Amino acid sequence: MELSHRSTQFSTIMQGAKKDLRDLLNIPENYDILFLQGGGTGQFSAVPMNLCTTTGSVADYLITGSWSAKATKEGEKYCRVNKALPSSNAYNGIPDQSTWNLSPDAKYVYFCANETIHGVEFNFIPETGDVPIVTDMSSNILTKPVDVSKYGIIFAGAQKNIGIAGATVVIIRDDLVGHAVPFCPSILDYKLNLQNNSVYNTPSTFSIYIMDLVFKWIKKQGGAEAMGEKSQVKSKLIYDVIDSSSGFYYSSVFPKDRSRVNIPFRIGGSEGSEYLEKKFLDEAHKRGMVSLKGHRSVGGIRASLFNAITVDEVEHLSNFMKEFKDKHKQ
Ligand SMILES: *Cc1c(COP(=O)(O)O)cnc(C)c1O
Repeated sequence: MELSHRSTQFSTIMQGAKKDLRDLLNIPENYDILFLQGGGTGQFSAVPMNLCTTTGSVADYLITGSWSAKATKEGEKYCRVNKALPSSNAYNGIPDQSTWNLSPDAKYVYFCANETIHGVEFNFIPETGDVPIVTDMSSNILTKPVDVSKYGIIFAGAQKNIGIAGATVVIIRDDLVGHAVPFCPSILDYKLNLQNNSVYNTPSTFSIYIMDLVFKWIKKQGGAEAMGEKSQVKSKLIYDVIDSSSGFYYSSVFPKDRSRVNIPFRIGGSEGSEYLEKKFLDEAHKRGMVSLKGHRSVGGIRASLFNAITVDEVEHLSNFMKEFKDKHKQ
């Protein structure tokens, strides 16, 4: 844990982690990998500071939930933000691309690949012509294969699917490196960090070590394809119970945009939803299932099916959901 970040031992760990990530996502040669700090939230600032170089630069943001909303708010500090989705858009799906208002001269199009709180996931890659796509994959990285060549920047905090808090992965196409605004803090400057092999300052060495163990574990499981198949199976187990519950459980996300990773849902029923949701959480807790409470901003229940959650564990939850429904539905 106390290895120097400049030691050959740590350097071997970091090179190994980069290679494993490159193998797992088939990252093309013209993309660089950075291991930074500051989480997904740090990248909300890093992206505009590295890409919105000229005054008046425009960036398109697709707001589909609270994480992309937060990123947009941060982006507004550094560039002219165009909110490209229709204003009628609620956080329950992704409006058809024909309704988007993309700017031809945008520096990038930004979206959150999986809205962790609202449970909205992109299952397609938007058509943006020559405008680079920047995406936040904090909550679905390595839960399925990705065609990296379609993106300009992919970033993700490690703590949800690929390790513990502390490290942030940035995968960046090399022509997007080297344009930071003069006031960009050094620790967020992609070029400076790249030139210094992600050790311009001390990275979160232990988190990077853990991340590499997770990469090796994912490889052993069969890679991103296998994680993708598992994620389909796991999410189907939960959505099937919701959809066959005659409204006892309900989700407000359009089925086509439902997340495979984070499933927020509510409980209807005549006993009162708040009462039943609390009871659900208490009983789940007694059976060893924790962290099922919905995010404080939305309430309800949320099943987060990150890579570390097994199919067996999800079966345990879906069986409990069925039992609970049978006991409480009128
Ligand atoms: C958790 C999360 C973040 C925030 O990550 P931090 O590491 O806390 O900054 C950003 N985006 C998404 C999609 C997340 O799920």
